[in-house]
Amino acid sequence: MFPLQKRHRITISNLSMIHRRLTAVRTAMTELRLQALLVTEMAHVRYLTGFSGSSGLCVITPEKQFFITDRRYKSQAPQEVDGFTIIIAKQRLFPLITEKSLIPKEVRIGFESEYVSVADMKSLKKLLPGRHFTPATRILETVTAVKDDGEIALIRYAAQITDKVFKKILALIRPGIRECDIAAEISYWHRKYGAECDAFDPIVASGERGALPHARASDKIIRRGEMVVLDFGCRYCGYHSDLTRTIAVGKPSVEMKKIYKIVFEAQKKAIDTVHNGVAARSVDAVARKYIRQAGYGRYFIHSLGHGLGIQVHEPMRLSALSTAILQTGNVVTIEPGIYIPGGGGVRIEDDIVVRENGCDVLTTSSKELIIV
Ligand code: ZN
Ligand code: ZN
Repeated sequence: MFPLQKRHRITISNLSMIHRRLTAVRTAMTELRLQALLVTEMAHVRYLTGFSGSSGLCVITPEKQFFITDRRYKSQAPQEVDGFTIIIAKQRLFPLITEKSLIPKEVRIGFESEYVSVADMKSLKKLLPGRHFTPATRILETVTAVKDDGEIALIRYAAQITDKVFKKILALIRPGIRECDIAAEISYWHRKYGAECDAFDPIVASGERGALPHARASDKIIRRGEMVVLDFGCRYCGYHSDLTRTIAVGKPSVEMKKIYKIVFEAQKKAIDTVHNGVAARSVDAVARKYIRQAGYGRYFIHSLGHGLGIQVHEPMRLSALSTAILQTGNVVTIEPGIYIPGGGGVRIEDDIVVRENGCDVLTTSSKELIIV
């Protein structure tokens, strides 16, 4: 198990790892004929540099790499960032690219088009005239999709924290308590057990609200006889967990019990399908077919899963439309669900690592129907 220590604030700490990541980025830059890459998405900046603050960017050229942040991080940046030339901006970050002449004229600059605002793009073009801007979001998305053992250890640890929180809140859920009280307990215990923060606002959806796949916790009171969908996760050293369990408060109806069993089986079948080289859409199809044959196909209204790591939703999708092929080191969620409008919902979600001949399940909370 990965040791939990206060000092584990940063995700990367040795130069060889940074160089491995930079080499992968530079190889992709060469393929796209880019002479510079601008990395502005903060999860990607953290992945490359180790910087955990909220303002910064990287400029990567074939020979050099720079990290620009502002004055608030003057002492934090040198503590966290390794292998990059650090530049501290007095105010805005972009003008420093010009002032320090980091990117020559006439070059092709890759930028993260999915994460740059229209306003930022406008000022970049003004500050860097004569350069050709090329969308290159997929460079970092592709490099980060395959996790090494160190990263997997961090995701596993985040999952262990979330599993522990699930145990804790099982003892707290009872008829008469509000959904938002449970959400507050989830956030509290995540922090107490060492997480940086929640991965997203916890979903606590009881009774009819369980039919809304992305229901935020409301002030609704949980009543006896209702199922409760609990979907939550945390961030630890920059890496995320994402867990869903559906539990019953008091005896559930015969139909909800039946639905639970279908979702449980669908998820198991999908997990059993995963291995290196399998198409993401065929894993989705296994769960979808099982749910359809059980008569609930039209109530499974989202994709089966998504990539997980430095972002809680990474671009990899397990869906009917996905063209992705799962490969060793990918971390994804498997989360089928059935949602009956006006009735309720069931979803079960685990985080898994793709291996050569199968997968490892990182979340270990029980999937038997728990009645509290
Ligand atoms: Zn989730
Ligand atoms: Zn998820």
